[in-house]
Amino acid sequence: MLQLYDSLSREKRLFVPGDPARVTMYVCGPTVYNHAHIGNFRAAVVFDLLFRLLRRRFGEGAVVYARNFTDIDDKIIKASKETGAPIAEITTKYARIYDEELSAFNCLAPTAKPAATGHIAEMIALTERLVAQGFAYAAKGHALFSVGKFADYGRLSGADADERLAGARVEIAPYKENAADFVLWKPSKADEPGWESPWGRGRPGWHLECSAMIEKVLGETIDIHGGGQDLKFPHHENEIAQSACAHSGAPLARYWLHNGFLNMGADKMSKSLGNVALPRDLLKKHHGETLRFALLSAQYRQPLEWTDDLIEQSKKQLDRFYRLLAEAAPDGEADIPESVVLPLEDDMNTPEAIAGLHELRDIAMQMEGEPKRRAAARLKAAGALMGFFASAPEAWFKWTPPSDGAALTAEAIEAMLAERTAARKAKDFKTSDRIRDALAAEGVIIEDGQSGATWRRV
Ligand code: AMP
Ligand code: ZN
Repeated sequence: MLQLYDSLSREKRLFVPGDPARVTMYVCGPTVYNHAHIGNFRAAVVFDLLFRLLRRRFGEGAVVYARNFTDIDDKIIKASKETGAPIAEITTKYARIYDEELSAFNCLAPTAKPAATGHIAEMIALTERLVAQGFAYAAKGHALFSVGKFADYGRLSGADADERLAGARVEIAPYKENAADFVLWKPSKADEPGWESPWGRGRPGWHLECSAMIEKVLGETIDIHGGGQDLKFPHHENEIAQSACAHSGAPLARYWLHNGFLNMGADKMSKSLGNVALPRDLLKKHHGETLRFALLSAQYRQPLEWTDDLIEQSKKQLDRFYRLLAEAAPDGEADIPESVVLPLEDDMNTPEAIAGLHELRDIAMQMEGEPKRRAAARLKAAGALMGFFASAPEAWFKWTPPSDGAALTAEAIEAMLAERTAARKAKDFKTSDRIRDALAAEGVIIEDGQSGATWRRV
């Protein structure tokens, strides 16, 4: 029984898809003009977890998850002007980096990754429909959505009209019939990228992109629409208005999910405040799975403060799990225990689920032999549902940060270990102790077992 908190109805609801054989989810993706920050990744990781839960419940082939790339946008045009690099070069580069970094966080690839520039015809067609039906109007090379024509406008964000106008600093422009009206299509200057349209050469507005791609890739009414809570207004409010009006009032999504912010101290992490930590830099020091664990340590709707201590605690916890997995060599396929599934299916209560993982570990610790291996297999399966324990334990403990040029390479450690083994065989304990100390000074621990010496980093 999967329950999700729906931001539109403002309550936790049993999740019932329109068609259990084709469960659809859309998450607003990045504008690809520079590096994402770890706050952006919170949304991606949270919805990756939901993707995994849906696949478990409805079948891997039954879930269609689309996450877009916004690859036409004023910020991209600006980046291109500033750097001299063509737009396509910038967007291709940052989309690739985004995907690579997310896979380091053990995120599964979405089923579809539509790009805005691949759907311009659909965006024009949708706008034409809205204009033809009187929900939108053309003015001075623009097409604008007439907010007053959609009675439900504001239901998701809940703010009243004045608050919205003030809060979002909605642009007041002479061509607008009403200050709250928003742009579907806008004109491009000669040196800006543009496409021919019934309103002249121009480009789409951001909100229109998502509505058009959702319709094309997933359908008129999708099961789940997700994003960070800052997208409720105006972005999601506008998506709802466009799609509902273009589809005779059919709702855009059955469930709206919004993740809370990742904060730095008292502030939301954001590019405009300049208080960002980038996965690009973090991945030079930390394993992606550690960062994933940190992002999932709070329930997704709660704020989460990003600190060095959070990363360190996450690493410590993962080390404890991996130590058990190394010790017990999980045996066979296992069902995922309810102590982990139930909290996850209760609106993704990840802190409870992680507590469940610790319980499973404690249980396995008390066992020996085959029962221990089976208990470890249950722990492994439960962790896998959350995207954890993707490494072999040995690889986990031997992992070196890619940027850490000073750290000994695995090859160098193996060579020193071989030297130490030879010294011990020759009963040259002075040399073998010296090598052990030298490795310890580099943060490498040697453990002598029955089948010889092994090593791990601390
Ligand atoms: P943007 O690049 O600002 O459009 O953001 C991309 C995604 O990241 C959106 O879903 C945002 O809501 C989300 N996001 C941005 N900043 C944060 C933050 N500090 N914490 C959580 N999510 C965020
Ligand atoms: Zn969107």
